[in-house]
Amino acid sequence: MSDDREAVDGRLVIADGLDVVLLSEDEVIVRFGTQSQPSELIRDIDLRGTLAKMIRRLDARPQTVGELTADLEGVALDDALDTIADLVDRGILCDARLSPIEQYLAYAETGASALSDGTVTVVGTGSLGRRVADGLREHGVERLTIVDADDVAAVDAAGGGTDDLAVLALDRLDVHRAHVVNRVRLRERRPWLHAAVDGARGLVGPLFVPDRTACYNDLDALRQALLPAPLLDRKHRRHVLDRPLPDAVGLPAGATVVAGYATLAAVQFLLRGSCFAVGRLTTIDLERMRIDVEDVLRLPRCPVCGNLRQVARAPFPIDVALEPPSVEPVS
Ligand SMILES: [Zn+2]
Repeated sequence: MSDDREAVDGRLVIADGLDVVLLSEDEVIVRFGTQSQPSELIRDIDLRGTLAKMIRRLDARPQTVGELTADLEGVALDDALDTIADLVDRGILCDARLSPIEQYLAYAETGASALSDGTVTVVGTGSLGRRVADGLREHGVERLTIVDADDVAAVDAAGGGTDDLAVLALDRLDVHRAHVVNRVRLRERRPWLHAAVDGARGLVGPLFVPDRTACYNDLDALRQALLPAPLLDRKHRRHVLDRPLPDAVGLPAGATVVAGYATLAAVQFLLRGSCFAVGRLTTIDLERMRIDVEDVLRLPRCPVCGNLRQVARAPFPIDVALEPPSVEPVS
């Protein structure tokens, strides 16, 4: 029992943004918005009346576990401690010292660790890169490295093989830089997210995870295969390579939309190890706000990430390989 009391150090509050409605002494409804998750009924089946009592106390002011269970003993105390532990697990109750965003993430991303532990490298210091970096900071990512995409040596050294994610955020589609980042990240075996504004389109994703998803080369090969005029595209690429990138292209509002998607993908990935952008490209038509999503599949013989797969995956389980063949002598 004392363990449970100590498990939550500090005062508890009902997470910011949640509505907790008392239906009876043993039933409460927890809602976030009118149609959004979580929306659930919590019921104390033993009908001890402690649930409503605790919620009323929490409504009045933040409470320690000791204060919440002050007048309880025996089985009722055990039950109350279990209930508190469950509500904390689900993020419905949380430490009063958490920021409103951390409180939101506690129930939206049940069981998620804090974003302050995440390390992210943002490659790109333009309109989109700045917005992504600001967005990540606002969400609680404290360990951010921001690298100029033009500084190839810095891009190469970025993350130092220790960050959790890199985001390439450019104000125009830059295939050359994306290939550079792709090779660096594959070598380091670190995930990265591609985000760009491409004229009047916003591109978010894919989020590439080495050995799990396709790499940028697969995406580029597929893109080139679908081009109506490959020669014109090659000319355009050369033209872009030969001239310095302007600071920003397109409307700031467009960059904000793309940065919002990219930030959300990064935040989800840091918390869950997965997100809507893993292996998937989201294309946003910034004029009509139409959104298109497509999965990017691995090419079986990709020259860039194909070798990585062979190294990473044994053709048969390793224990089979180590086991000497056991053949019973025939008598
Ligand atoms: Zn590949």
